[in-house]
Amino acid sequence: MDGSGLARRLVEETAARAADLTRRTGAQPCLATVLVGEDPASVTYVRMKRARCEKAGIRSHHVELPATITTEELVATLRALSEDPDVHGILLQHPVGRHIDERAAFEAIAPEKDVDGVTTSSFASMSFGLPGFVSCTPGGIMRLLDAYDVDPAGKRAVVVGRSAILGKPAGMLLLARNATVTYCHSYTPAADLSAAVREADIVIAAVGRARFIKGEDIKPGAVVVDAGYNEGNVGDVDFEAAAERAGLITPVPGGVGPMTIATLLAQTVDAAERQLGATAA
Ligand code: NAP
Repeated sequence: MDGSGLARRLVEETAARAADLTRRTGAQPCLATVLVGEDPASVTYVRMKRARCEKAGIRSHHVELPATITTEELVATLRALSEDPDVHGILLQHPVGRHIDERAAFEAIAPEKDVDGVTTSSFASMSFGLPGFVSCTPGGIMRLLDAYDVDPAGKRAVVVGRSAILGKPAGMLLLARNATVTYCHSYTPAADLSAAVREADIVIAAVGRARFIKGEDIKPGAVVVDAGYNEGNVGDVDFEAAAERAGLITPVPGGVGPMTIATLLAQTVDAAERQLGATAA
């Protein structure tokens, strides 16, 4: 599955919507990016997201905060951005540092600006099938499945990993589309995990361990989505061996990664359209 190609098309579509909105309202969609400290990976991610924003005609309002900031100060910054009418979406790059209450910080983001889908309100809306923003990586995965006409209804799906931003919401979105969902995590015995993967029509790998999912466990014809991104540009799936059995598979890089950013941009323009009271014609 070509995530790069699909992401390019989604960004083009988003850029056209952003341009149209700017023309009609005189206001450019704006994403606030909040970076705490100088973690090199986070600095790179934020730089990448801001560059993509610029290409798509989305203004980025960047806020850099020292690693020594307190939870209260970070919460105050996010509340101020939530109330700023010129900001339509907010991205808090995480991790934010161990001394900060990350959940409290996320919750300071107004749900209508939570384009990264990190608040409990967004998670609840997603789980209940109500309007709101989904976490970007699972949202990008669902767009990929749709683009390749993979209908999860009635399929057995296994999600390996259950983080709040990735595994858990990916499973909820598949459940909402009527898949039979199994979650595996660090307490799942290896033999059970392997058995669950062997039975799955759709495998979502979201572990953070290089080549953790073995090719021999992939059911012939299964759809394999590798969200993992590990040192050396390696995913969570043993790609070469899995590709021999899978019907569809995402590469790393070029699969889920670009879809995550494209979904962030698309949701930022959705947010701007809603806040400016103008949906695309
Ligand atoms: P995370 O918060 O570290 O979660 C990892 C999950 O894997 C946890 O639920 C953990 O279980 C589970 N796990 C760990 N060891 C396991 C094992 N031996 N067997 C079964 N499950 C195991 O990571 P994350 O943020 O979800 O990210 C996962 C991967 O996706 C990483 O490689 C990350 O870089 C990548 N990622 C990519 C994108 C993208 O845009 N492409 C976005 C986000 C993340 P417990 O819950 O029991 O601890």
